[in-house]
Amino acid sequence: MHLVTGGAGFIGSHLVDALVDAGQKVRVIDNFSSGREEFLSHHEDSGRVEIFRADLLDRDAVKKSMQDVDMVHHLAANPDIRLGTEVTDTDLKQGTLATYNVLEAMRMEGVSRISFSSSSAIYGEADQMPTPETYGPVMPISLYGASKLGSEALITAWAGTFGAEAWIHRFANIVGPRGTHGVIFDFIHKLKRDPSRLEVLGNGMQEKSYMSAEDCVKAMIHLIGHCDKNVNLYNLGTGDTCSVRRIAEIVVEESGLEGVSIEYTGGDRGWAGDVPKTSLEVSRLLETGFKPNLASEEAIRHTARALISEIGL
Ligand code: NAD
Repeated sequence: MHLVTGGAGFIGSHLVDALVDAGQKVRVIDNFSSGREEFLSHHEDSGRVEIFRADLLDRDAVKKSMQDVDMVHHLAANPDIRLGTEVTDTDLKQGTLATYNVLEAMRMEGVSRISFSSSSAIYGEADQMPTPETYGPVMPISLYGASKLGSEALITAWAGTFGAEAWIHRFANIVGPRGTHGVIFDFIHKLKRDPSRLEVLGNGMQEKSYMSAEDCVKAMIHLIGHCDKNVNLYNLGTGDTCSVRRIAEIVVEESGLEGVSIEYTGGDRGWAGDVPKTSLEVSRLLETGFKPNLASEEAIRHTARALISEIGL
């Protein structure tokens, strides 16, 4: 049995789909704060997916969810990096403390394998681009990035002290159908409110790596099958980047709206803690034989199309 924390969320529900397709049984633990029942409803009659509605901050519940589990995929977290500018303990609790609770429940229940969704946010404003896994010292500039780095450290400590086996995936920006946050989602909602203009936070020159959710979960499963060190650390991305300016153009093109004025608020970043440029070195991932299907721009266009039909304009 595979346990997916945050399995009702955007990436988590794609991972559940991929695990079920691979013939696995899956238990989801989720508090449905940003996860949605409809993301898993297609598994209702399959008998392959159990849903355990609970909060990772409830230690007894997390311990109960570990029964008969061989492997934990820990994805639950606060996904909104910007929230850290207003509420300063969310990432600490939903990120680092939740990870501690998962690891401790695993130790108590004898579960040793954990796959973890970390983030390129741990690199902060790295001066090496593309940034390899060996880059350091890593200095996150967001509370979210700090919580991911803290979680990674707890995981390697559990591996070193209690013999856990870990796969740490440092994701690029992940995009795709069922997305409930992020730049493409925000742009579509803005156009829905006002189809005549699109406000872009910053000067639009922010440039990041994007990967489709489908490629992301395939890569996670691939790495678990192909790498067997005590701790396996990989950047997950496509090796290229796309600017926010280009994303705005793609969303407007896909919307079919005419005469939209794209307006920039100015400044080199969207908000405090936003890293204006990220580019992940992914040769370590590619050397394992994994090849993403979609490059950044293709993943963005595919996502814009899917989310416009989900959200409606
Ligand atoms: P998401 O919000 O869709 O998924 C998070 C899920 O966790 C949701 O279903 C939510 O209800 C659940 N959850 C949150 N706190 C919980 C708690 N305390 N107890 C139980 N369930 C809880 O976000 P996502 O984009 O699918 O992100 C999944 C993971 O990937 C997160 O750890 C995120 O930090 C990481 N990540 C995402 C991206 C991205 O671009 N989307 C990039 C890097 C890393």
